[in-house]
Amino acid sequence: MNYTTKQIAEITGSQIIGDGSLHVKNIAYDSRTLFSVSDSAFLAINTTKNSGEKYIQSAIEKGIDIIISEHHHPQYDNITWIIVDNSMKFLQKIAKFHLEEFNLKTIGITGSNGKTIVKEWLYQSLFHDYATVKSPKSFNSQLGLPLSLLEINKKHQLGIFEVGISKPNEMSILTDIFSPQIGILTHIGSAHSSNFHSEEELIAEKIYLFKNSEIIIYNGDNELVVNKINAGYSSKKLISFGFKKENNVSIINDWKDKSQEVLIKHFNEEFSVPVYQRDEATISNVLCVISVLKEFGFDHARIVEKLNVLKSIEMRLESVNGVRNNLIINDSFNLDLDSLKIAFQNIKEYNKPQKALILTDFVEGKNADQLYQEVAALTNEQKFNSVFLIGNEITKFERVFEAATFTFNNTTELIDNVAINQIENHLILLKGARKFEIEKVKSYLELQKHDTVLEVNLNSILHNINVHRALLKPETKMMAMVKAYSYGLGGYEIAEFLQHHHIDYLGVAYADEGVDLRKSGITTPIMVMNPEQHSYNIIIDYNLEPEIYSFRVLELFNEKLIQKGIQQRYPLHIKLETGMHRLGFKKHELGDLIKKLNSMNVKVQSIFSHLSSSDDEGEKEYTLQQIHIFNENSLKLMAGLNNQPIRHILNTSGIVNFSAYQFDMVRIGIGMVGVSANVEIKKQLKSAVTFKTVISQISAVKEGESVGYNRKFKATQNTNIATIPVGYADGIPRLVGNNVGFVGIRKNLFPIVGNVCMDMMMIDLGDFLAKEGEEVIIFNSNPSLEDFAAYCKTISYEVLTSISRRVKRIYIKD
Ligand SMILES: *Cc1c(COP(=O)(O)O)cnc(C)c1O
Repeated sequence: MNYTTKQIAEITGSQIIGDGSLHVKNIAYDSRTLFSVSDSAFLAINTTKNSGEKYIQSAIEKGIDIIISEHHHPQYDNITWIIVDNSMKFLQKIAKFHLEEFNLKTIGITGSNGKTIVKEWLYQSLFHDYATVKSPKSFNSQLGLPLSLLEINKKHQLGIFEVGISKPNEMSILTDIFSPQIGILTHIGSAHSSNFHSEEELIAEKIYLFKNSEIIIYNGDNELVVNKINAGYSSKKLISFGFKKENNVSIINDWKDKSQEVLIKHFNEEFSVPVYQRDEATISNVLCVISVLKEFGFDHARIVEKLNVLKSIEMRLESVNGVRNNLIINDSFNLDLDSLKIAFQNIKEYNKPQKALILTDFVEGKNADQLYQEVAALTNEQKFNSVFLIGNEITKFERVFEAATFTFNNTTELIDNVAINQIENHLILLKGARKFEIEKVKSYLELQKHDTVLEVNLNSILHNINVHRALLKPETKMMAMVKAYSYGLGGYEIAEFLQHHHIDYLGVAYADEGVDLRKSGITTPIMVMNPEQHSYNIIIDYNLEPEIYSFRVLELFNEKLIQKGIQQRYPLHIKLETGMHRLGFKKHELGDLIKKLNSMNVKVQSIFSHLSSSDDEGEKEYTLQQIHIFNENSLKLMAGLNNQPIRHILNTSGIVNFSAYQFDMVRIGIGMVGVSANVEIKKQLKSAVTFKTVISQISAVKEGESVGYNRKFKATQNTNIATIPVGYADGIPRLVGNNVGFVGIRKNLFPIVGNVCMDMMMIDLGDFLAKEGEEVIIFNSNPSLEDFAAYCKTISYEVLTSISRRVKRIYIKD
């Protein structure tokens, strides 16, 4: 986009205060990820939960001089304001206007799964033939779709956009802005959000997008979808794809058999195509892409050519600890200008003041001069301390980069250079086109290099939090329990992510866990559940808030406050005993407690208790009794205090099973990881952790031969044994050996045989053809964390917290 402030005000019927001649090429809405301020406006988005106007000051401090907001804040002068009626409607209006300015072919993709991959694959298949614009990442919401549309410019011939909804009536708003010529419906999953009453309602809502489409290409494996589309849209050109034979586009042969190509039926025509990955989702997405390419008139040979170069889209940002206290951010998304912008936005979320960039030639290659000038200008705005350029093209622009800049012909040269080997305490962003094999730099700079890793998907954690949040009133606060190194997932990384997403409170077990978080820049309030006597000093020094569960602790802590001369009332959390019989004040102590608290220089920040059996249907009565006691005792305590503390009692399964008793706050823990005892909720959660390794060696073992210590496994027939580099020192209990536990390879399960060793264990492959170096899943989806916990005869909590620190943690955002 490129409009003047005056034009924007006119187009949207808004009021302008200040300069009408400024240019806006970019609208930013998150002040934290602002990566460029030139020709940018900040839009303060107000939602029911949050007001973007709180962040106007920070946007201005970063250099923004155009603010679009529902209210004028006159204390900030010297900037230009566009005052709008409704921030979200404003964005939708300008996007609609913008789209109508151009005459481009449009594809709109909706569905429950596969939108992003289908969009990326269509882009990869079509951008050589048409100048194409697409939604960045998976931008598809009420906010994401308009922002995507604003990326259109006059050179574009084709636009491919994702359209997603989470609540009824959202689609009509989006369709009013964007009504695609070609509509695509990918897979509709059976699990639908609780915001929709039925699958039927969800489908009706989604296909509303096709109201004005000429062609609808849809997954016809779901009967409801077929009926609804045929009933509503019989006058349009309809093309169905899927596994069922009745579809216009389907498969004739056994697609699971990798020894042959996949044989496709397209109406009356048959042809075969290469597909390397053979899982249901991939095949279904390939059918969808083929249907579209056929519609664009490509013949069989061109389609095969295009399918051959489809890349798996790893739209993910990986962060790992590096040597010399560096933090390595590896962004393996395609290297183009859009993904560079996204990466620049993403690194704003890490608080490492020193930054380095490693950047290679781009693959786009069109009009190199203009492209690299733009890349350099954007890079300069990020204020990297040093920039490493690799390739023959980008290095020609060395002088345009303002940071200390180093140039190399290839990745190996960079690794051998002293400059990269002297960097310490930096965030190092790796952005490279595939052919440069930039991942070599990553493994070179990584701290731990074991093949066994615990991969944590931060987006899944956020998703899981939101699934639980949906069960609560909007105003209920949330404390995230990050004790025990965030249930083994990692301390700082998880807390930083949660802080970024506005969690209200963090909970840790011990003071030093809280201190570590503070030292790495966490400013969210932190409750310490076991404030040990020797740690009161650091609790106060680091502004941590102790749980007070007895008079002894209260008095000792108060003495420390006096001794340190603390003036302001210090925040405390009072724990009540309601039936767990672990820690807490009992009913008969409340009178004395009130007197003591009122005589001290302290402020009761919250009153809480903990449920012993919230996940246990059979103990429902007991839980309700605990809640009842908590309600009575906390009211009694509050009546004697001169402030209104926050009250909270629900943990994860409490949120799910007893949401009526959410009080003012809840405390989520294991739910973030994706574990739930409730089947319905479990379906909606995403597994956030993957514990995995690779095969070190495969040996053919003959009938009668034995494997491992004490010859506990003896082959009863010839078989293949794989050794994997993970053992009890990594947190795998010895009791899963000897055929008790299983691991997964390509979604198949194999038994762990013989005794588990300290650093290794052996698995029986039978005649399965696995390869050395191949990935082995200890748990993720198959087996799941819960399955693995069952092998270990314990619960998910213990499995996670037992994974030893030597197992490298990798954090993924997508
Ligand atoms: C660990 C903990 C939680 C979180 O429990 P989950 O079952 O993991 O949700 C909540 N409250 C207290 C006091 C805890 O110690």
